[in-house]
Amino acid sequence: MAVKSIRSTLDMGRLHLSEAEASLGIARRLRAAVWVFDIDRARIVFANDAACQLWQADTEEDLCARDMALDMTPTVAKRLKQYQIDFSQADSIFTELWTLYPNGEPMGVMVVFRGFRLDDGRMAMQCEALSDAQDQPDNLRSAEALLHTDVMITLFSRDGPPLYLNPAARNAFPTPLNSFEALLVDPADFTQMVARMAEVGEHRLVTKTHTVAGTRWFDLSVKSCSDAVTGQPAILLTAIDVSELKEARDTARHLADRDQLTNLHNRSYLQNYLEGLERSGDTSGCTVIFFDVDRFKLINDRYGHDAGDTVLKQIAIRARAVLSPEDMLARLGGDEFVIVIEGDSSKAALELQVEKLRSAISKPIPHDKSRIDATISVGIAGYTDDSDCFSDVMRQADIALYASKQGGRNCTTFFNTQMGKAAIARDQIEVALGHAVLADEFILHYQPRLDIQSGEIVGAEGLVRWLHPERGMVMPDVFIPICEETGLIDELGRIVLEIGCTQAIEWHQAGLDLDVSLNVSPRQFSDPGFVTTLQDFAARPGFPHGRIELEITETVLIGEHNEIAEKLRAITAIGYSIAIDDFGTGYSNLSYISRFPLTCLKIDRSFIDQLPASGPIVQLILTLGQQIGARVVSEGVETQEQLDWLTDNNCKEAQGYFITRPLAVRDFERFVQAFAPSSQRGRDEYRA
Ligand code: C2E
Ligand code: MG
Ligand code: MG
Repeated sequence: MAVKSIRSTLDMGRLHLSEAEASLGIARRLRAAVWVFDIDRARIVFANDAACQLWQADTEEDLCARDMALDMTPTVAKRLKQYQIDFSQADSIFTELWTLYPNGEPMGVMVVFRGFRLDDGRMAMQCEALSDAQDQPDNLRSAEALLHTDVMITLFSRDGPPLYLNPAARNAFPTPLNSFEALLVDPADFTQMVARMAEVGEHRLVTKTHTVAGTRWFDLSVKSCSDAVTGQPAILLTAIDVSELKEARDTARHLADRDQLTNLHNRSYLQNYLEGLERSGDTSGCTVIFFDVDRFKLINDRYGHDAGDTVLKQIAIRARAVLSPEDMLARLGGDEFVIVIEGDSSKAALELQVEKLRSAISKPIPHDKSRIDATISVGIAGYTDDSDCFSDVMRQADIALYASKQGGRNCTTFFNTQMGKAAIARDQIEVALGHAVLADEFILHYQPRLDIQSGEIVGAEGLVRWLHPERGMVMPDVFIPICEETGLIDELGRIVLEIGCTQAIEWHQAGLDLDVSLNVSPRQFSDPGFVTTLQDFAARPGFPHGRIELEITETVLIGEHNEIAEKLRAITAIGYSIAIDDFGTGYSNLSYISRFPLTCLKIDRSFIDQLPASGPIVQLILTLGQQIGARVVSEGVETQEQLDWLTDNNCKEAQGYFITRPLAVRDFERFVQAFAPSSQRGRDEYRA
């Protein structure tokens, strides 16, 4: 059939073969099957007799009328589109074994494909069957698989360009491709692969590879082989794009190893890292610097949690900036950070390093309109011969950090064995305290409060003591901080309230006219159940309303002022009064003091100790007390001179060793009787 007649049977406007007629005229006379395939329309637009025979069509017209899209898989359609692009970009020729389906029956044919420009300018495909390759079924299937797989398969000559690329490889790899080496981003990969091929004949590697879509992560397998045609040495490369997989794995690893807030490494990474060093015996000279932010809770309370986050992020950035790239920096959680230094572990070098860290962190940290000052406490411990496990060194650095906190914060402590012993003792106390709260081992001693003018004892401060079965009486300074840290303070606080309230009820029923003050720790105050506990005690028969005073410290007043004021009002409404203990040592925002329902300010012992030098401060507090309608008590009065100064300056109440040390209940009761103003003799006798 003439090309003209094809035109008559097909859409004349869309098909223009006239310019190709000459070449097709020749094709008509060839014995090999030749046909032209319009990729866009999935139609054969020209076929010589041999092609008609191959396709089992009676006439060319019949064949051209067939809709090839009907039994074409999406993969084949995609491949054909790719060919179309390849033909347009370069005068490409492909020779491939294809499976044709004339009338639905599969048939393997080796076909040469090349571009064929239709009259309307669109790129079609000229196909020439080389031979009827009705091979063994397995051969056909393998050829088909090679053609359609997404796995990129390439045969390279040993040191030169590819001898064969399957369609997937052709689509992915950049052209011109001069060698296998040119595919690899890192030249070291090539050296490694060649070396391994020389040794064992093959190698596998996940690495960065150049592709038409830029750099991608490929899983590459290479095998050394020979070209089946020439027998020359060759490399068979199988490649799979694993970029998405790798990205997902990297993200998962990143999430597992990193702290989300600061993007620093986290505790589990740090542990793996140090344990890795331990396993490889690389820990000598390795030092752990453990630091945390001083009074970080106050930063959160005062400026809000966003500010706390800003501070942590800034600390991470600033710490990183003063470290060498090989030093490891991790955030353990909260405000705790760890640096691992593997270089110079001399004390001088470490001190210099910490100094740099401090000065970087101490610069004010901007947040909103505020500038936040942060300081750090630091503990340092190194790997030594006898302590060489992660948990030991971390614990030692932690103990040293704890010592820095005890030493007043904003300082650095190097671990020593003495400290280790103290820490063990502290741990023992912690364990014993757990038993003590269950075993009624706590009592209160009472320190009287003197009305300076009348000379009467008007109150008693209950101070807790722990009667340790072996150690005897333990003072609160030893165990209160541990109770605070471990949370035992809630239970201990309840015990103190129980003893104190019971005692107050007993004294009032016995006609002793005394206020009883009880200390409340910040943590106990912030416990949501605190007010309810107080309510329970206030509901007891004989509870002396208005005569039990709770001593809180200034730190309790920091934070959300409305919330605190509300809680304090609820407490006073139940029948307790509120004193500020150790006044003048903590944070006092004077503008807020007047908004809280306070009945008493207790001037801290340190100011009384410094009298008369500290006179102006004491006078200031006395005036402040007057202004807000609160009594002022001077604590820690130890001498007659101090008491005289306070009397002269119109301070109404005093407490201290000069009057008496805290006393056990019965001693206290005897003291109060002896101290009655009418009984100067009894007082002197008692003192004697
Ligand atoms: P604080 O509430 O300021 O109690 C006063 C402390 O100063 C008492 O020490 C008392 O013995 C001591 N002191 C009194 N007068 C003088 C003096 O003239 N000179 C000197 N140098 N010291 C004097 P203590 O009993 O060892 O208590 C220490 C701290 O432990 C208390 O300070 C208080 O903060 C805390 N604490 C005591 N009992 C409790 C309690 O039941 N609960 C809570 N949360 N804390 C308590
Ligand atoms: Mg107190
Ligand atoms: Mg005090």
